[in-house]
Amino acid sequence: MRFLRARTPEEALRLAEKHPDAKPLAGGTDLMVAWNAGRLDGKTMLDLSPLKAWARISPAKDGADVGALVTHARLMRHPEVLKFWPLLAEACGTVGGPQIQARGTLGGNIANASPAGDPFPPLAVYEARVRLVHAGGRRELAFLDVFAGVKKTHLAPGELIESVHLPHPPKPSRQLFRKIGTRAAQAISKTMMAGLLWLERDGAVREVRFALGSMAPTVKRLHAAEEFLRGRRLDRPTVDKAVELLAADVSPIDDVRSTRAYRLRAAQNVFRGFLEGRLGRS
Ligand SMILES: Cc1cc2nc3c(=O)[nH]c(=O)nc-3n(C[C@H](O)[C@H](O)[C@H](O)COP(=O)(O)OP(=O)(O)OC[C@H]3O[C@@H](n4cnc5c(N)ncnc54)[C@H](O)[C@@H]3O)c2cc1C
Repeated sequence: MRFLRARTPEEALRLAEKHPDAKPLAGGTDLMVAWNAGRLDGKTMLDLSPLKAWARISPAKDGADVGALVTHARLMRHPEVLKFWPLLAEACGTVGGPQIQARGTLGGNIANASPAGDPFPPLAVYEARVRLVHAGGRRELAFLDVFAGVKKTHLAPGELIESVHLPHPPKPSRQLFRKIGTRAAQAISKTMMAGLLWLERDGAVREVRFALGSMAPTVKRLHAAEEFLRGRRLDRPTVDKAVELLAADVSPIDDVRSTRAYRLRAAQNVFRGFLEGRLGRS
């Protein structure tokens, strides 16, 4: 294995341009598994871990910028994140266990593009934007547009995740994060979800955002149900129809962790509980 270590962001971009096949290395929690299985033999690694500039959470005009190297452990305790993006803090607290949270980074989690990335539903409902850099410049993608499929992203060779921009959401009337797995720790989800709901004074839905993980090759927002609910009161027939529409935006499968039927039923039950005000917090 060839091992390159970048000491500054500029050096990282130069090395990534010169070695476009090099695998960026952040916390190494995903890569160590691949290394142990022999899948990195003969590969070139580009160690980003010394880049202090990418390990910061910085205030921005309309929100905050979270550097790609910020760990789950920092996100789950950071006062600003807890205040404005509590669903993200909660999700980071469900990633693996304390050891994984201490090393695993947000950038590594996104680049790994697992359908089961726990922070993904919160990032989808907060409408985060992902900042990408390469030697020739930078670009920004809406969070959902980063993913091309299971473990596949739209990052170009030599392109790196620099940070994630979190816009301040308006204060929601109700919010929810839920991970459904086999155990409380070290469990990859059967399904997980995040929801934000804003109600008008008369109880009509101003806006609802709901996202599901482990229910399709990539994280999904429930566009059909969200659109249907806008402007409606959450009475029984409306909730029934929204729950029915959930299936339009997902394609769960049977696999070692769960079945298609269980995933769908569990997601529909939580969505119903959220809309009826039984699940989530106000
Ligand atoms: C025991 C165990 C339990 C786990 N449990 C969970 C869980 O419950 N939930 C969950 O979501 N994940 C889980 N994971 C997966 C993993 O811990 C997370 O995805 C973690 O956030 C990865 O971050 P990292 O910094 O360790 O990434 P690394 O392993 O360093 O890298 C992961 C991938 O991202 C690429 N990469 C890293 N940084 C960048 C960057 N800045 N730009 C471009 N590409 C980059 C790497 O090349 C690699 O392909 C678990 C892993 C293990 C080993």
